[in-house]
Amino acid sequence: MRRPLIAGNWKMNGRLDDGRRLAEELAQRVHRASETGDPPLPDCELLICPPFTLLETVHRTLAGSGVFLGGQDCHGEPSGAHTGDISAAMLADIGCSHVIVGHSERRQNHGEDDALVRAKAAAAIAEDLVPIVCVGETEAERDEGRALAVVTGQVAGSLPESFDPARLVLAYEPVWAIGTGRTATPADAAEVHGAIRGALAERYGEEAAAALRILYGGSVKPDNAAELLRAGDVDGALVGGASLKSEDFWRIAQAAG
Ligand code: PEP
Repeated sequence: MRRPLIAGNWKMNGRLDDGRRLAEELAQRVHRASETGDPPLPDCELLICPPFTLLETVHRTLAGSGVFLGGQDCHGEPSGAHTGDISAAMLADIGCSHVIVGHSERRQNHGEDDALVRAKAAAAIAEDLVPIVCVGETEAERDEGRALAVVTGQVAGSLPESFDPARLVLAYEPVWAIGTGRTATPADAAEVHGAIRGALAERYGEEAAAALRILYGGSVKPDNAAELLRAGDVDGALVGGASLKSEDFWRIAQAAG
């Protein structure tokens, strides 16, 4: 049984006060839902991935809420001369349980390739973090009819040789849908997610493929979340812009179940 995961990627947004307020609002919603059942607690896992500077504040604010905390990136090495980078151990140390790796903004803006993403995922696993490995085609690749080939190729190149399928998450995020207000149709998302699961089954076996969660990301909002989350093989959402408003993020979570 794959429990849906709704993950918020705050990207490079928020100062201390903003992060504290947003986390407080979310924690209050969780507490109210658990105490009164009105509205009910969403039947999914919730994860927030703030910028590095907000991790400690958000960790403290979310304590006891059950909402998981994640980093937006980590280095592939455990430590060393890597100015400006953060290791998986540092994330674990500050209370993270998850880390996003291979987000398209890192692939595009920082030249990260599949091999580097694979090293980051392996580094995360070594520190007992759950890596959320992102893949997705550009608009040109989709227009050329190469979406499935590109995405399954990224999956093949970005995943470590072995891992516990319950402790790794994939996120399909078409690059043309991120931050643009455009989304894949539920049918397109189901097609890509199905192709990814098929490729996983060939490489890791049916059981592992069936256990691994595949999130959809790309302009998920409260008004399109339900239909996307109902699409075949979609096990949750990676949410950028809409995770910066607690009301929107909460409504997306409720759409998950
Ligand atoms: C993301 O950054 O992972 C993302 C999906 O962003 P948005 O929801 O804003 O498209």
